[in-house]
Amino acid sequence: MRVVLLFGAYAAALVVVVSLFEGGLPLPFHRAAAAGLCGTTLGPKDYRWPVKPFDAQHPIRGGFGDPRTLADVAFGKDRAGSAGVYSFHNGVDISAQAGTKVYPVVSGWATVPDGDEVRVLAGHRVFQYHHIRPAFQQPRRVVAGVTVLGIVKYPANHVHLTEIDGGTLVDPLLHLRPYVDHSAPDIGTIDVSGAAGGRVVSDDLSRRIVITARIDDDQSVRALGHWGGMPVTPAYVSAAIVDGHGNVVWQRTVADFRFSEPPRKDFWQVYGRGTFQNFPVFGRRYYWGQPGNYVFRITRAPLQVSHFVDGTYTLEVTAEDLCGNKTRASSPLRFTAQATDAARRQPVAKPTS
Ligand SMILES: [Zn+2]
Repeated sequence: MRVVLLFGAYAAALVVVVSLFEGGLPLPFHRAAAAGLCGTTLGPKDYRWPVKPFDAQHPIRGGFGDPRTLADVAFGKDRAGSAGVYSFHNGVDISAQAGTKVYPVVSGWATVPDGDEVRVLAGHRVFQYHHIRPAFQQPRRVVAGVTVLGIVKYPANHVHLTEIDGGTLVDPLLHLRPYVDHSAPDIGTIDVSGAAGGRVVSDDLSRRIVITARIDDDQSVRALGHWGGMPVTPAYVSAAIVDGHGNVVWQRTVADFRFSEPPRKDFWQVYGRGTFQNFPVFGRRYYWGQPGNYVFRITRAPLQVSHFVDGTYTLEVTAEDLCGNKTRASSPLRFTAQATDAARRQPVAKPTS
């Protein structure tokens, strides 16, 4: 069933004039998100950017929780259990030209595990800087914004920053300042299919169904080069089924990358078949320039339609980015399990001749 979507961006828009980014990238400031976990002021756990200018927002070309897929099978054929490597991106990718100097965001004790990474221990926090050529080999004390950790490698053209706080992976965008985003997530097609995988052809649903939705998010600041406009994932996705009286009769959190991310083994619990990253690899082929496809499993286990009273419901899917920009899409669901069951139980007349 291909459903009709009603789009609506519910992010409240406040018109503000902002000129915080002197010497930084020009940002198309028109409005600020109503609420969110990003911002421009420095809180106790916040930090500046690891590349110059430190006090200006830099483009993000890979988000926390994004799918990272390396499939052994042909394009689009992979699913739970397929050979390949499937994980959640465990940091952010900050666009920067090869050769750009990378500095620690928080002072601490640096080690160099390999020729691609510098790791900085700062109290109970660990920061990992990947895809850089280290500027030193021996462990040493490093100072935020002062010590050069290394330079961005070619062809990576980005530094990957991971933050682990007290053993928990967290999204560095919670703390990178300034960071703002005014672009709300996009909710694409919502698919309802039978539990066996076949597409439901009727709007009348009487059995077990599986619901998925394609959702992605854009950034206000475009990434460099061919990565400009490539999607990242929203930070939070939830869904609800609402009856004709407005009562929520089913709801769940589909994905929540705001404060951490699920373990790798849960990849196919969050993402559905057809999910792949930007510039994916399938089999031996690298699909250069191919934007990612993010299919979220709205239902984790198939939904038993007979658990609902027959009637017309509304499925509401909500996607939100870290800055509180929100998009909601809805589609009607008509459940007919009881009627179908009753029809099945009708006595059938025996032939009389
Ligand atoms: Zn990365």
